[in-house]
Amino acid sequence: MTDLQLFPTRWPGGHRAALCLSFDVDGPYGERNYQDPANIYGISQTEYEPFGIQRILGILADFDVHGTFCWVGQEASDRPWLVRKVSEAGHEIALHTWDHRYYTTMSEAEQRFDMQRTFKE
Ligand SMILES: [Zn+2]
Repeated sequence: MTDLQLFPTRWPGGHRAALCLSFDVDGPYGERNYQDPANIYGISQTEYEPFGIQRILGILADFDVHGTFCWVGQEASDRPWLVRKVSEAGHEIALHTWDHRYYTTMSEAEQRFDMQRTFKE
C-alpha cells in the first residue's frame, strides 16, 4: 500500500491537490546572520526585498492565488508600506519573530514576549 492509498484525495470541486505558498520576509535580519559571509545561500535568502516581493505579488496576481508572508518584525518596522501593500493584495501576514532568533533557544516567556512585540510593532 502506498502513501497515496493511505490518504485518499478529498479536495473540493474535483481538484486533485492543494498548494500552500509561503514566503519568509527576513530582510537583513535573517539567515545571513547565521551563515558564513562568503556563503551566497545566506545572502540569497534575504536580499529580495522590496523588489522581489513586488515581483512575487505580480506573479500571484497573474495566477489569482494568495500566499502567506512570514515577516520578521524588524524588517516590517523598516518597511511598513510593503507589509500594507501585501496585506491589501489579500495575502496573509504571519509573524516570523522580531529578530529572527530561533525559538528553540528561547524560554516560553521569551517566545511570548517576542510574539507580542512583533505583533504590536
Ligand atoms: Zn527566515
